[in-house]
Amino acid sequence: NKNAEIIAVGSELLLGQICNTNAQFLSKELAQLGINVYFHTVVGDNADRLKHAIEIAKKRSNLIIFTGGLGPTKDDLTKETIASILGKKLVMDEEALFSIKEYFQKTKRVMTENNKKQALVLEGSHVLPNDYGMAPGMVVEEAGYTYMLLPGPPKELQPMFLSYGKLSLASKVDVSEHIISRVLRFFGIGESQLETEIESLIDSQTNPTIAPLAGDHEVTLRITAKHQSIDKANELLNNTEKDILSIVGEFHYGYNDDTIFSVLFQKLKQLNVSISSAESLTGGMFGEEITQFSGASSIFDGAVVCYTNEVKEKVLGVSSNVLSEYGAVSEQCASSLANGIKSLMNTDIGISFTGVAGPSDLDGKPVGTVFIGMSLPDGKTIVKQLNIPGTREGIRIRTVKYGCFYLLKE
Ligand code: ATP
Ligand code: MG
Repeated sequence: NKNAEIIAVGSELLLGQICNTNAQFLSKELAQLGINVYFHTVVGDNADRLKHAIEIAKKRSNLIIFTGGLGPTKDDLTKETIASILGKKLVMDEEALFSIKEYFQKTKRVMTENNKKQALVLEGSHVLPNDYGMAPGMVVEEAGYTYMLLPGPPKELQPMFLSYGKLSLASKVDVSEHIISRVLRFFGIGESQLETEIESLIDSQTNPTIAPLAGDHEVTLRITAKHQSIDKANELLNNTEKDILSIVGEFHYGYNDDTIFSVLFQKLKQLNVSISSAESLTGGMFGEEITQFSGASSIFDGAVVCYTNEVKEKVLGVSSNVLSEYGAVSEQCASSLANGIKSLMNTDIGISFTGVAGPSDLDGKPVGTVFIGMSLPDGKTIVKQLNIPGTREGIRIRTVKYGCFYLLKE
């Protein structure tokens, strides 16, 4: 089977002027074809270094795909370099020359001598027409290696690959193999802890593979399975998911593009349960997050931003005793806020957020001390205490996410 390496040629990539989106595009496409991409290489417009990159690639890959450097200018030297390595001549491709001439007639521009250079192709290659530019692409087979040359501009490369390149590869690989992935999303557990917990699974698995990734205050695992049958590949994913969740299921909240907010929204909608929020620390962020979904009014009634003690007391009925004895950042206050908002808004659930966002401590409570109160449909009130590290901004958004996560798990 084919192991691919993508060599992107262009000094502008190394200078950081553009991103290697061609490699990204090709990798996604190749994955769908069942071709493993093991390496991305980037090299400047320099013949010696390009040669060096090709020599290395040949030691580890048997499908080498080049992007860039097919143009008419001096710094475009991809095909020249490959020609010299393979000991092949560059020959004029009449069809490509014809379409270049046509292109100039259509755009009423004058064709220069170096434009002809673009119609030169590697001897014995299969030519890939360029429907959106001039330089044709090509595929060459040599000594067990497949070389594919594609133009640099994504507007040209993408349609060329989709219309012609893909087909020429499909005949060389076992396209009956399907590769499917699923992302499992976790909250409230760090990447290293998650990895440690499921270390033996990660180590022993090759199909599906398990890849952890840390995101915004959360961790994801991408599980990827390969099989000739899609059903069987899905079954492999299901089994691996089950194994993973039997260990760290308590932290799992969703899949793929889910967010903690979208999952909570769906759950509340499904259960037909309404909610309101009393937001001190979070200043309305919970309301903001939950109202990003259309139809939010069916589950979210409203919020009170109860930043001062006066508002906590007058609007939400927190007793002055609680505030003077325990303070606004306390289990008692969070509980009273949650009950207060639930009865004020007449919802099934009331949630409250109070805490110290920093940068300095408050009433002897350290930065990051957070209480989340939940007044539930069955009349129970639960308060969770947290100590969240980080910046003011980080503490506030993580508080909202924790609140949503606790509700999901209730
Ligand atoms: P041209 O005929 O336009 O010169 P070319 O095949 O010679 O095409 P390059 O000269 O290497 O290709 O690149 C042309 C343009 O294509 C670059 O300026 C850049 O905008 C884009 N490009 C090149 N390589 C990449 C890449 N790997 N990812 C994304 N864009 C790229
Ligand atoms: Mg160029």
